[in-house]
Amino acid sequence: MSSEQKSVREIRINPIVPTESVLVSTARGMRPKKDEERITRDTRQYVDRCPFCVGNEDRTPPEIKAYPDSKNWDIRIVPNLYPVLGDDHSPNNTSFGLQHVIDGYGRHEVIIDHPDHGIAIHEMSREHLTNLFYVYQQRMEELYASDDRLKYVLVFKNFGPAAGASIPHTHSQIIATPVVPEDVQNEVHHSREYYNKFGNCIFCSLIDEALTFEATIHDRESGEIRRKINVGQYVIERGERFIAIKPFASRFEWEIHILPLQHQADFLQATQEDLADFARVLKRTMARLDKVVGGVQYNFFLHSVPHGGEHQSCENSYHWHLEICPRTSIPTGFELGSGLFVNTVSPEAAAEALRDAEIELDELGK
Ligand SMILES: [Zn+2]
Ligand SMILES: [Zn+2]
Ligand SMILES: [Zn+2]
Repeated sequence: MSSEQKSVREIRINPIVPTESVLVSTARGMRPKKDEERITRDTRQYVDRCPFCVGNEDRTPPEIKAYPDSKNWDIRIVPNLYPVLGDDHSPNNTSFGLQHVIDGYGRHEVIIDHPDHGIAIHEMSREHLTNLFYVYQQRMEELYASDDRLKYVLVFKNFGPAAGASIPHTHSQIIATPVVPEDVQNEVHHSREYYNKFGNCIFCSLIDEALTFEATIHDRESGEIRRKINVGQYVIERGERFIAIKPFASRFEWEIHILPLQHQADFLQATQEDLADFARVLKRTMARLDKVVGGVQYNFFLHSVPHGGEHQSCENSYHWHLEICPRTSIPTGFELGSGLFVNTVSPEAAAEALRDAEIELDELGK
């Protein structure tokens, strides 16, 4: 990190969801930090007792699908043994007064991302990652088609115990729910308002700004420079079709978002060529993260336009993206009680460190 980075203490408003704000405060001792030293990851290929390892297929519930096939699978989908939502009970309307209840109907599935137990995303081949996101697409489409009550299919990944992963073998999850998750609902709502006011997609505007915007903000009284914004300051990686950006109001120290450069509302619209470029950007981004935050534990979430009639009007205002949220600090009572996130690394400094990280370009492909 460059030494010229000034200390920052300011509340930043999320440009997409203005009701969400982040306190960026680089003062030390703001919050308990996890160990700074690299966490050693379990890199074993096979673990005897792991239910997700090759040869232990009988330890999961019967498989839903396997790619390319059950015997030589690269990617495998199974029901979650402890589903948070299920289709096993009959609907009953128990709403009363202001206590509105929606039936806990839905699906909860596990996608075993790779046969190798301890492999990290950036170590997977670009081809494998392309296939993985294609499998997400396929399954999302099938789930949406299976039941009209399903309003949103969320794909996410918890990697590492700090991110809530209970099984160490690399995997992701799919939850199909009868309600749109609040974070997505907020993004959909506010981006639609922005579109109605300004006539363009706020995500597209943010990308344009990251690629073209340069400004110096002076203190009105002293004339001192308060902030300098440089072209590309928030850009981590750029592909032909995708871009990885460090959000200006990042909730998490090393949070990164990956978005299609051309406007696209629905992840299901992404073509094979799109996914191949996406895989490249994701792989390189994760390699950078691993270089800077060793053994990084993280969650990622896929945010895409919800299905169903009421969201058809969001085609122009919503823009799908992947949010990568590394877990490097422990939330404090202040954060939990106020809803205000605290970030102790300035997003500008974090972006610079990630951009400067040297990754093995040969192995990662052009
Ligand atoms: Zn395993
Ligand atoms: Zn857009
Ligand atoms: Zn989002």
